Amino acid sequence: MPDKLELMMGPMRSNKTAELLRRAEVRRQYAKQNVLILKPSDDAKSGPGVVESRNPNGGKMSALEFDSANPWEVLAAIDEKEATLGKRIECIAIDEGQFVSELFLFVKHLLEGGHDVLVAGLDLDFRALPFGEMLDLSWLVNAYGGSITECMAYCVCGARALYSQRLIGGQPAAYDSPIKVPGDAYEPRCAEHFVLPGRPH
Ligand SMILES: [Zn+2]
Repeated sequence: MPDKLELMMGPMRSNKTAELLRRAEVRRQYAKQNVLILKPSDDAKSGPGVVESRNPNGGKMSALEFDSANPWEVLAAIDEKEATLGKRIECIAIDEGQFVSELFLFVKHLLEGGHDVLVAGLDLDFRALPFGEMLDLSWLVNAYGGSITECMAYCVCGARALYSQRLIGGQPAAYDSPIKVPGDAYEPRCAEHFVLPGRPH
């Protein structure tokens, strides 16, 4: 049985989006599948209508944008595309899954509708806490079949980076810093170099 749900998780700069696009392209090119790429409205790294890797060699593919607060609006667009193509869309690929509201139920709905689903996203937020519903999707992998890929990132010291260090004005962001600050930046860090001022534990 092929993988129904393929999860790609990891910190910033672990090439998650490049991996998502690579798998989508393999399905298109070799399996001759119709693949629809979905991009939540919070994705800040790509231009309009495309999903783009931060890695300059990571590729770029056209994508359907949707409001991350309401993924359900995509269902009508899928029906419409299938009607236009006269074919099923075998595979739905979602980038930046951590931003999507009701991600667990939405992905479950797609799987039950017979679609294969690819999801890429951050596992932890800048406070090193589970980000959105990404980690919950592992239950769906067990239930429906599939795989979880831990995308690797590396700290400047060379160790594996498990965390996404948030920087505001070049300084480590505090635990209680606001979610949206213009000009913030992220870099992958190992446990030793991850800094989170004001963390409660
Ligand atoms: Zn380090």
